[in-house]
Amino acid sequence: MGSWEENVRKVVPYVPGEQPKKEGMIKLNTNENPYPPSPEVLRALREIDTEGLRRYPDPSSKVLVDAIAESYGVDPEQVFVGVGSDDVLAMTYMTFFNSGRPILFPDITYSFYDVWADMLRIPYEIQPLDEHFNICKEDYRKKNGGVIFPNPNAPTGVLLELSDIEEIIEANRDVVVVIDEAYIDFGGVSALPLVEKYDNLLVVQTFSKSRALAGMRIGCAFGQPQLIKYLNDVKYSFNSYTMDETALAIGAAAVRDKTYYKQTVEKIVSTREWVKKELRALGFVFEDSMSNFIFAAHSSVQALYILEELRKNNIYVRHFHKPIRISNYLRITIGTDEEMKKFLKTLKNILEKC
Ligand code: PMP
Repeated sequence: MGSWEENVRKVVPYVPGEQPKKEGMIKLNTNENPYPPSPEVLRALREIDTEGLRRYPDPSSKVLVDAIAESYGVDPEQVFVGVGSDDVLAMTYMTFFNSGRPILFPDITYSFYDVWADMLRIPYEIQPLDEHFNICKEDYRKKNGGVIFPNPNAPTGVLLELSDIEEIIEANRDVVVVIDEAYIDFGGVSALPLVEKYDNLLVVQTFSKSRALAGMRIGCAFGQPQLIKYLNDVKYSFNSYTMDETALAIGAAAVRDKTYYKQTVEKIVSTREWVKKELRALGFVFEDSMSNFIFAAHSSVQALYILEELRKNNIYVRHFHKPIRISNYLRITIGTDEEMKKFLKTLKNILEKC
């Protein structure tokens, strides 16, 4: 080994869900939206001025920031945008988690949180969820360097009440509290209104789920202007042009089409409620999910067996080789009614053979 290797920043990377490209597959493994993005997105795409692509994009991402601000009824100075919420969250870690004290997040949560902390050498302390996968607000009262968790949590889908979130913010006024609302549009109540009240609150959202634009990589954050300014300062010190012109135009078109967004979210929520009943009837146990996925274990059949049998039938769901507590769980993304009918039929056949 050359001595240069001693100075390499060695990291254990985050492993995203696989993206197989198989004919006729039913892909329920990465929480993507089963419906296409708004028709307005296609229109915006057709209007892209390809000649203009020779120029650098607008570093302030004004077109998108303004569209988000207008849509959510906030000032543009309260909006930050990035290349998916992963980019926004990574910037958040770099900007706000520098005290040297451990940041706090749940033991079962988005598996990128510890990866960013390790990569950026930020100490962290995980806080166990209770036996029903609830976040225990009391655990977030200790001295810390920042707090982050998703609401609803992932991969559990369990929602924390807004009043509990406010208590956590109240107890942590000397650090930044980040609420990762990747799945909030599927039935939760957003913490966005609390941004006016708390200068240490950052609410992060994504266009990847409810707006069906995972492939475009668009995420955003809401906070008071000072918080957003600090985020932009770090962004401009790292890469001025994180978002390209196409993403800006498409994101702006998508966020303006409230009708289509509402229709598709309603369809997903109604499919989810039906799938919950069907899964319970098949012997699955799970906490109530307020997201576009269900995190479930079968009462007698092993998750890995079900996972493999589903794969043989070209159906993909997600399993986490993580702590023992969730090793028998599968995370099932909600697809279209037709996809979920096929999924449930296949599942029934698999279970009948056991
Ligand atoms: N937060 C959570 C909780 C997620 O599950 C995801 C999706 N992997 C993200 C953030 C990031 O999503 P994106 O970068 O596509 O916005």
